Amino acid sequence: MPSKKTSRNHPPSVDVLIIGAGIMGTSAAWELARHGVQCLVLERSVPGAEASSAAAGILGAQAEAHAPGPMSELCLKSRARYAKFAATLGKETRIDVGYRECGVLRVGFERAAVTKLQRDSAWQSKHRLTVERLATRDLTALEPALSPKLSGGVRFAADSRVDPKALLRALHIAALGRGVRFQSGAYVRRVALEDERAVGVVLDDGSVLRARNVVVAAGSWTSLIDGLGLPAGRVIPARGQIVELELPTPPLSHVVFGPGAYLVPRDDGRILIGSTLEFVGYEREVTAGAVRDLLLHATALVPALERATLRGTWSNFRPYTEDELPLLGRTQIPGLFLSTGHYRNGILLAPISAEIVRAAVLGQRAPLSLDAFSPERGVLGGHE
Ligand SMILES: Cc1cc2nc3c(=O)[nH]c(=O)nc-3n(C[C@H](O)[C@H](O)[C@H](O)COP(=O)(O)OP(=O)(O)OC[C@H]3O[C@@H](n4cnc5c(N)ncnc54)[C@H](O)[C@@H]3O)c2cc1C
Repeated sequence: MPSKKTSRNHPPSVDVLIIGAGIMGTSAAWELARHGVQCLVLERSVPGAEASSAAAGILGAQAEAHAPGPMSELCLKSRARYAKFAATLGKETRIDVGYRECGVLRVGFERAAVTKLQRDSAWQSKHRLTVERLATRDLTALEPALSPKLSGGVRFAADSRVDPKALLRALHIAALGRGVRFQSGAYVRRVALEDERAVGVVLDDGSVLRARNVVVAAGSWTSLIDGLGLPAGRVIPARGQIVELELPTPPLSHVVFGPGAYLVPRDDGRILIGSTLEFVGYEREVTAGAVRDLLLHATALVPALERATLRGTWSNFRPYTEDELPLLGRTQIPGLFLSTGHYRNGILLAPISAEIVRAAVLGQRAPLSLDAFSPERGVLGGHE
């Protein structure tokens, strides 16, 4: 380990070094700091620069759940924490993070598609989750701007939304207020190991930062960091593109998932249209074909969007794992923890993931069984 060049230009040892200042790294740092743990967050770019600020902000614990199991339990537990999470951030920073208990609709044009939506969500009623079946007239009553050509859908009244850009700003400010330090432009090459224990990180200039614990929250770039004991390609980028429109007043109150697009309203009349799902490596382009398709699907759902102003487009990378489950908690390497691979639901999963990291670092009981999310699940032979 090249420990000679030890952090001459870097701050001294801390309790916890966190790699990545997206929602996972920043929320974990804030949570740890609230429990008296000193944290330094290393970010190769600027805090919140990547997936977390690019997200739509749907808190779709039910709308995105396809079956009962550990993932839906994790999502539901995180959703249950959101109101307090947003309120505490509001109190510490005076920032409204746009948390709204707006409900989510899934809608379809064809009768067969609506029947399938209703059948696919039937298990939720058996698990005492509220799901309402909607006919066309129910939809029009709830959301008059929706196309009258829709045949119906389902409503998940307890799902909600948040504004990720405001959320990331609030988390950063709240973490700073709790004494968390952030170092921008710090590119971590690898985790430093001594006697098979994580003792810090090595930056790309060869310098070493030492810490008692290391938390990896590097999103889609996790697998590019050496020394994690994970197989190559464990987390890969799944590009999503978004189009942002604006109307003088919000055309919808619910988040709406329709065929080919979802629509996320903001209180000020902006509306996000998402999203594609593409495995194209780290190519950041926004493509003409994707924008065309998103606009076509969105205007079919809400015809009034044809008069909307086009405000912008962007893309970023969801941290994808093959089984679509995050990698959470302690690893086989003492002192090394992961909070990554949250794929489509990282904004939703921030409160529970931060709590899981805090519990793991402090040796406390986890808020639920982490077997399904073990970083080494399905990996034979342990370390690299
Ligand atoms: C288009 C789109 C829409 C989405 N919509 C939703 C949604 O509606 N609801 C929802 O819940 N989720 C949504 N998601 C998913 C969500 O955005 C992600 O799951 C979540 O943001 C992942 O957070 P993260 O902190 O792990 O990753 P990121 O936000 O990508 O942060 C990782 C950080 O680590 C830094 N980093 C990486 N490698 C290193 C290194 N070696 N050294 C130092 N720093 C490093 C990066 O620069 C980055 O800032 C969406 C994602 C996309 C792309």
